[in-house]
Amino acid sequence: MPRSIRGDVVVIGGGPAGMAAALSSWEAGAKSVFLLERNEYLGGILPQCIHPGFGLQIWGEELTGPEYAEIFIENLNRTGVEAMTDTAALELTPERIVKAVNPQGAWEIKANSIILSMGCRERTRGMLQIPGYRPAGIFTAGLAQYLVNIAGYLPGKDIVILGSGDIGLIMARRLTLEGARVKMVVEIKNSLSGLVRNYVQCIQDFNIPLLFSHTVTEVRGKERVEAVVISEVDEEGNPLSGGEREVECDTLLLSVGLIPENELSRQAKIPLSPQTGGPWVDEDFSTDLEGFFACGNVASVFDLVDYVTLVAERAGRAAVLARPPQEKHILRAGEGVHTVIPQRIREGKDGFLFIRPQKSMKGVTVSFWEREKIFYQKKISICRPSEMIKLDLAQIPWPQEKGEIKVEIKGTEIQGIS
Ligand SMILES: Cc1cc2nc3c(=O)[nH]c(=O)nc-3n(C[C@H](O)[C@H](O)[C@H](O)COP(=O)(O)OP(=O)(O)OC[C@H]3O[C@@H](n4cnc5c(N)ncnc54)[C@H](O)[C@@H]3O)c2cc1C
Repeated sequence: MPRSIRGDVVVIGGGPAGMAAALSSWEAGAKSVFLLERNEYLGGILPQCIHPGFGLQIWGEELTGPEYAEIFIENLNRTGVEAMTDTAALELTPERIVKAVNPQGAWEIKANSIILSMGCRERTRGMLQIPGYRPAGIFTAGLAQYLVNIAGYLPGKDIVILGSGDIGLIMARRLTLEGARVKMVVEIKNSLSGLVRNYVQCIQDFNIPLLFSHTVTEVRGKERVEAVVISEVDEEGNPLSGGEREVECDTLLLSVGLIPENELSRQAKIPLSPQTGGPWVDEDFSTDLEGFFACGNVASVFDLVDYVTLVAERAGRAAVLARPPQEKHILRAGEGVHTVIPQRIREGKDGFLFIRPQKSMKGVTVSFWEREKIFYQKKISICRPSEMIKLDLAQIPWPQEKGEIKVEIKGTEIQGIS
């Protein structure tokens, strides 16, 4: 029989989002807060991110991932939050019951509020469907990072990286420093996927070639990767015939995107947004199912941990206040917009709106439409898909009447690194 317990707030996932949410629930007056983490340690992805670049936005200093995590772990230790590590949440019901297991046995926890903070996972080779055998030597960039920084293994010596996302860029530098040869980074789009600062510090400073509008079209080698074939692509990303070339390597790293981890959310029948891959949320990071909140990368892939912390703190407080549902504005991504989060606006008095552009553009105007009318515009000099635009909700004069609002970004497209 599972042990049954009750909690004011149960937080699933002990990464930066879960830790910040649990802390703020406790500080907002929750009497019993359970933080469930399937790993043996708290911190989520942070312990393997030993590079600096965390905390610049909220603390004005560049910490490493482990340093950032440690601040929250120490703060949690000063509260009554019950952090249950080595504990995997396996089932979630719409009635807010979490079924979990750990070495002590099975648990059934009934909560007044549940905060989802399960993070995201990396896209894999199978999802990309690159033809070829299934040899050893193909890793996602985050797994390679775990192998190098936590387990102490070098995944390969001659490496090609597919995708110019931040994890790939950071791993290009890390593997070079460990003595591997990073032969090139190949990007299917015509512009950078990661942050410009990561391009400069991890690619340019190490003279690693970066090829835009190219992709890997074949993996060669039976037991172990021996080479990859790279091809130029057209504007739609389709490989152009005739331009293929073989690059010898023993390892292919994939840095081709992250997917919010929402199996439990689906079980609990929480409505999900096809754009973010996570639950629809309002500015409190409350989902469309009463009593459920979602924050951090499970809600939408955020580029900076600082933003994850900001939204998780809001979710943690809101989970204790448990305000009754009310009518909300519904935000839609229009032209030039990849995602907006939150997508529901309850009052718009405080909190933030994060907008991810579809393309790199300069001379940018962000417009908010109510029916056929623009009611707010914001000018920005430059925007990139790798950097969410963060707006203060209170700056936006939200219409009185609740309804659908379209967000649009227009500007002059720029290519490459700029
Ligand atoms: C390689 C890499 C480099 C990065 N570099 C930077 C950087 O330089 N600067 C920066 O600001 N940000 C950086 N980031 C982004 C930052 O790390 C993330 O934004 C942040 O970790 C997201 O926090 P999270 O809590 O949402 O998810 P995660 O950190 O992924 O944590 C989710 C946690 O939930 C747990 N979990 C999942 N499912 C369950 C379950 N069923 N039961 C129990 N536990 C569960 C997982 O084990 C995990 O610990 C980087 C990310 C990566 C991957």
